[in-house]
Amino acid sequence: MAEFNAPANEAEFDKNFAQLKPHMTKTQAYLESSRCLFCYDAPCIKACPTAIDIPLFIRQIHSGNVNGAAKTIYESNYLGNTCGKVCPTEVLCEGACVFVEANEKPLEIGRLQTYATQQVLANDKDLFTLPETGKNKVAIIGAGPAGLACACELRLHGVAVDIYEAKTKASGLISHGVAPYKIQNEEAWGETDYLERKFGFRIFYGHPVTEVTQTKYLEDNYDAVFIGTGLGKTSQMGIPGEHLQNVFGAVELIEKLRDQKNKLHFPGNVIVLGGGNTAMDAASEAARMGAKEVTLVYRRSKNEMGAYEFEYDLAKSVGVKAIFNAAPVEILGDEKAKGIKFIRTKEVQGKVEPIAGTEFVLDCDWVVKATGQEKHRNLFSLIQGLHTDAAGKLLVDAASYRCMATKYFAGGDAVSGGQEVVNAAAEGKQAAFGILTFLNKE
Ligand SMILES: Cc1cc2nc3c(=O)[nH]c(=O)nc-3n(C[C@H](O)[C@H](O)[C@H](O)COP(=O)(O)OP(=O)(O)OC[C@H]3O[C@@H](n4cnc5c(N)ncnc54)[C@H](O)[C@@H]3O)c2cc1C
Ligand code: SF4
Repeated sequence: MAEFNAPANEAEFDKNFAQLKPHMTKTQAYLESSRCLFCYDAPCIKACPTAIDIPLFIRQIHSGNVNGAAKTIYESNYLGNTCGKVCPTEVLCEGACVFVEANEKPLEIGRLQTYATQQVLANDKDLFTLPETGKNKVAIIGAGPAGLACACELRLHGVAVDIYEAKTKASGLISHGVAPYKIQNEEAWGETDYLERKFGFRIFYGHPVTEVTQTKYLEDNYDAVFIGTGLGKTSQMGIPGEHLQNVFGAVELIEKLRDQKNKLHFPGNVIVLGGGNTAMDAASEAARMGAKEVTLVYRRSKNEMGAYEFEYDLAKSVGVKAIFNAAPVEILGDEKAKGIKFIRTKEVQGKVEPIAGTEFVLDCDWVVKATGQEKHRNLFSLIQGLHTDAAGKLLVDAASYRCMATKYFAGGDAVSGGQEVVNAAAEGKQAAFGILTFLNKE
């Protein structure tokens, strides 16, 4: 079990958050690519949401055609470098590798992918030739993976694209949600800056779309609009004490951590509430920041956690403890959170039920809520004709990603309710084809 001291400077921070998938050297890439069996009907391709021709790019790396490999990757996935580092490959491409069935180590597809794309990013290579811009203009709200992928594909078809982004940098949750031991901001922005330069779309930074005059402007001045706004801030749990100091939403805290690094000080005991991947990330990150004790508390059983097993293993490997079947009742404290009162739970026909008389208190210095993210209901309510499901996810046509008979299209977390970067990249690209068909008909 690894133990971490609070990082005193950026070098110590980087050591505590050492990359899970470090870059390969040329020799490592050559040797690893030699293991590929170039399967006919390769299962890894089917397991990749962007259907990258994995055997082809691995063969290109092996024969020294690294730019060709990167082009193969980017033709399918515009976030190719990022995905090589952050994809849950254990349950996607690498999990499907034929070596797994033979109890052998699967090919390191993610690292090979990043190896090829890194060379292109570092050398600022041109991979695509863009056609002249035609008469059509599309607006995109949000420069996360979905919005960026949509923009790249549209530009490749001669459509002018303007992206309106609330923050001062592109990349969405890649740079303010994903754990820093998977990708650092500089690497994430290295790829998004490259895409912005090479595909020639405009991004208006610091430009949140929040008012009806803005959506009206987009409708009047663009031929179609793509919504790639992802999810909002951490949801409220609706229990007393949530307003206290030292109670944080996981996404907000991770964003702060990625921004402030060693300057953010984690205290003694941290309780993380939740059982999904965000909870695992927040707990692992608190442990790597030198918190004395990190305890995950989940209201259901271990088997019902939404988190991948390997993410839970990673949290345990850095000393995170877990308590299952306990639900928070109240966060205790006057100004600051000092502890949480829990009650034991059982599951009856899939529903969580408290067990009377089983309350207990855990002391803590910080509470981190990883209990889901809100939907952008305010933005959606400004746009006539948009429909959402009961959970607030945007409803779209499954093939074109068009929002019910409007000039709006949408993809990524705003539609799925929260998946992975690779899914958002796939959907943004797919929506671009939906938009192209729509523009041609119009
Ligand atoms: C804590 C955490 C860890 C994660 N870890 C991983 C991981 O390890 N691997 C992985 O593959 N996936 C991970 N994910 C999921 C992944 O980050 C998302 O699925 C993906 O980023 C979704 O892309 P998106 O483009 O739909 O939305 P986002 O990435 O959320 O991007 C939306 C963009 O829209 C902007 N925006 C929002 N509202 C407005 C508005 N009104 N006007 C203008 N701009 C707006 C936002 O600022 C943002 O830039 C993680 C998610 C979280 C929360
Ligand atoms: S994009 Fe992700 S899932 Fe697809 S091949 Fe690359 S690492 Fe695997």
